[in-house]
Amino acid sequence: MRLVDSHCHLQADRFDDDVDAVVAAAREAGVERILVPGWNGWSSNAALALADRIPGLDAAVGVHPHDAAKVSDEEWTAITAAATDPRVVAIGETGLDYDRVFSPILAQLVNLRRNLELAAAMGKPAILHCRSRTGERDAQDALLAELRAFGPDVPPVVVHSFSGPVDYAESMLELGAAISISGLAFRKGEEATADVVRFVPADRLLIETDSPFLSPPGAPRSRNAPEWVGVTAVWVAELRNTDRESAGDALVAAYDRVFSSHRAAAGRAGPG
Ligand SMILES: [Zn+2]
Repeated sequence: MRLVDSHCHLQADRFDDDVDAVVAAAREAGVERILVPGWNGWSSNAALALADRIPGLDAAVGVHPHDAAKVSDEEWTAITAAATDPRVVAIGETGLDYDRVFSPILAQLVNLRRNLELAAAMGKPAILHCRSRTGERDAQDALLAELRAFGPDVPPVVVHSFSGPVDYAESMLELGAAISISGLAFRKGEEATADVVRFVPADRLLIETDSPFLSPPGAPRSRNAPEWVGVTAVWVAELRNTDRESAGDALVAAYDRVFSSHRAAAGRAGPG
């Protein structure tokens, strides 16, 4: 089955010792596209460095809500400069996290707005993280309000590691979003994701691991890796009553549609 991993943090220190072997194992498992998003200045830069060194990787640069209050002006300036790089296919990850609140909510909102503005200015999609407090939907509702308030120039968005109720997914699709499914879907409290998977248009449905986090069933709990994205892909294909081969083709096509104009602009070669 052809596969993509639309979101994995291969620059995280847990991959320091064996990132080349991790990518090789992913290729062996059928993963044809890999996107490495940043979460702050250092990790955005590191994503680009990996894309330089390993053929076929795509990068994204941006500031995660956890880091919203921690990123310096210099870091942000470097991210905005890196955003013009043709190997950068998206801005992110950014978004809102009202569950852990590692940065104050006001700082998260300011950060989200400037990441969205950067994405709009670059004509690249914004990758959005969104987690509400347990049992609530406060962050999802705030994120929808921000996107609507942005106005007609709102950039295309990717809802990373989807979590939330069915009507939230419907509202995101109305705004033109692509929805990316991760191993989070298998966890307790995330049951609505199975319903969402059934109705997302094929050209806006992505899958991801969010490695090294969110191991799906069967993957090592200690460290998720892109080779495990197939667990989620098979589950998605079954829910959509699609055979694996056409489901895989659709995943690659959706990835290329969401991120591809920049791949073409980069003129990049490589096995991916
Ligand atoms: Zn992530």
